[in-house]
Amino acid sequence: MSEALPVLIGGSIAIDNVKTPEAERRDLLGGSASYAALAASYFTSPAHLVGIVGADFPPEHLEMLARHGVTLEGVERSGRPSFTWTGEYHAGMNERTTRNVAVNVLEDWRVVVPAGVAGAPFVVLANMSPGNQLEMLAQCAAAPRFVLADTMDLWINIARDPLRRVLEQVDLLVVNDSEARELASTTNIVEAGDRLRGMGPRHVVVKLGEFGAVLFGPPGHNHGLFRCGAFPLRRVVDPTGAGDTFLGALAGYLASLGSAAPGFSAIRDAVIRGTVMASFTCEAFSTGRIENLPEADLLRRLEIFREMSCW
Ligand code: AMP
Repeated sequence: MSEALPVLIGGSIAIDNVKTPEAERRDLLGGSASYAALAASYFTSPAHLVGIVGADFPPEHLEMLARHGVTLEGVERSGRPSFTWTGEYHAGMNERTTRNVAVNVLEDWRVVVPAGVAGAPFVVLANMSPGNQLEMLAQCAAAPRFVLADTMDLWINIARDPLRRVLEQVDLLVVNDSEARELASTTNIVEAGDRLRGMGPRHVVVKLGEFGAVLFGPPGHNHGLFRCGAFPLRRVVDPTGAGDTFLGALAGYLASLGSAAPGFSAIRDAVIRGTVMASFTCEAFSTGRIENLPEADLLRRLEIFREMSCW
């Protein structure tokens, strides 16, 4: 078996305030890169985190990540307040409203990738501004390298040009369905997958929330398509970070296979890992469920998911 490869993950590291129809929690660990790095750490090692936190950032959050083997050399400490996101979920938990975004440290952040981690062959551009994604990519030196990226509606609306430049350098784009439709300017999800692949990424995953995900790849492998459901949960406590968890687990699993040029089948298997890992994130606020997830629970759920999906 090949040796697991390192993953480098850049994005937001946040303090989240989350309200659901049932409860409200403040000062939670949030951020796209926090979820992604923690999820990746279940599959590969090391997972290098790149981001910025403020003077008010609770040290226990970083300590928890470090306990999982996430390296923090690339986490800049600023004297300003941390990036803070406040959101509220509506009945059914499928829709949320962002109540407040305090950009703070992210406002004029310039990404610095420490030389010691810049050669990681797997690069994850979790949700951050496309300008920051480009800065990070410019410092990632590995060849070959495999680049995964996420984005959000905000950047599609206000930074489409730099986002298009990011896409030209991405191997696997992971976006949700509304973002895919908006970025590709079509309402048909299959056409969106094709168009997004035409913008650079050889593979595209479109996340469909509680309905799962679709993988688009070159025609010839499995008709260029793989579709799986989400893991059915009886109770969703807080879905924040599910998409970031999906991305991190997907990257971590691919890195664990030891090749920086994964093909369709490997990415399909990674989508399954992402799906199952994301389901755990939904079962507690913040990273509560994936902070101490026994490997046996993960393996058991993968097995149940396999049984549920076969016919
Ligand atoms: P998800 O639920 O997977 O879409 O991810 C939610 C996470 O994204 C939260 O923990 C937020 O802290 C983070 N987030 C929200 N808005 C932004 C933004 N503008 N830039 C970077 N991260 C963000």
